[in-house]
Amino acid sequence: MINKKKYIVAVDIGGTKINIGYFNNSKLIKVNRLPTKKYGPDNIDTISQILINSKINISAICLSLTGLINNEGLWNPINKVTLGDFKNFPVIKTLKNIFQIPVYALGDTQAAALGEMYYGSGKNLESFFYLTISTGIGGSIIHKKNLFDGKVSDIGSIGHSVIKYNGRLCGCGKRGCLEAYSSGNALIKKNKIKKCQNTKDLLTKFKNNLQTKKIVNEAASMIAQSIINVNVLIRINYFIIGGSVGLNSYFYLTILEKLKQTQFTVKIKKAKLRSKAELYGCFVYINKKLFLQK
Ligand SMILES: [Zn+2]
Repeated sequence: MINKKKYIVAVDIGGTKINIGYFNNSKLIKVNRLPTKKYGPDNIDTISQILINSKINISAICLSLTGLINNEGLWNPINKVTLGDFKNFPVIKTLKNIFQIPVYALGDTQAAALGEMYYGSGKNLESFFYLTISTGIGGSIIHKKNLFDGKVSDIGSIGHSVIKYNGRLCGCGKRGCLEAYSSGNALIKKNKIKKCQNTKDLLTKFKNNLQTKKIVNEAASMIAQSIINVNVLIRINYFIIGGSVGLNSYFYLTILEKLKQTQFTVKIKKAKLRSKAELYGCFVYINKKLFLQK
């Protein structure tokens, strides 16, 4: 990729994997995938090295981050089990110092919601709630074609809303969070099938196992209940569901079945961009920021 073209780089740091996307002329032309290192800030070094070694001409970088990212570009973990224990890591400043170009960062569910709004299932929707069910659980609100509130990365973080009083301990330190019941991590923790090593196998190869059915029923009921709670609170009717667990057909259909058993008429859609939603969202975010500066 050594040439004079300018690239916009989008980096999605998730709980288990990192995607680095290269955009040229509004097209995502290449994606690098690598595993996430246990200690959050170590990943920034790795990504910088990859970008330096690629010798491409980069015009701007945007990061989609799991955890919390504030207005000043300081990064903090929510679930220290996933991201390690660090405080106020200056992620934007670090990359700006290295590359001397505009660098932005936003929450991973914010990025995914923006991506789905412009390129995915949210194209024709004015407002929707984006719900991701993966290793963890996250959410973001699109209100009148914009992030609500773009300045705070954890608005909508439904994974840490309490669904069961004094319930299971969550990685964030609280008890009874939705994430402690319905996330990929929670499902695999409950699994007792010896041959089953990960959530993907649990929801495919072992989906007809009685124990799996019980675990998925409980998890999906809690997701359905949380969707209804959001609908009651802020009257958003559309929900886009993403994430590897949320997009699994068996899990997704169980959520729909649980919702059908209620009186509520919320509308559910599957996210379209799958694992690339965050990258497209970063691209949208960079364009909004650069456009607003001019
Ligand atoms: Zn929690």
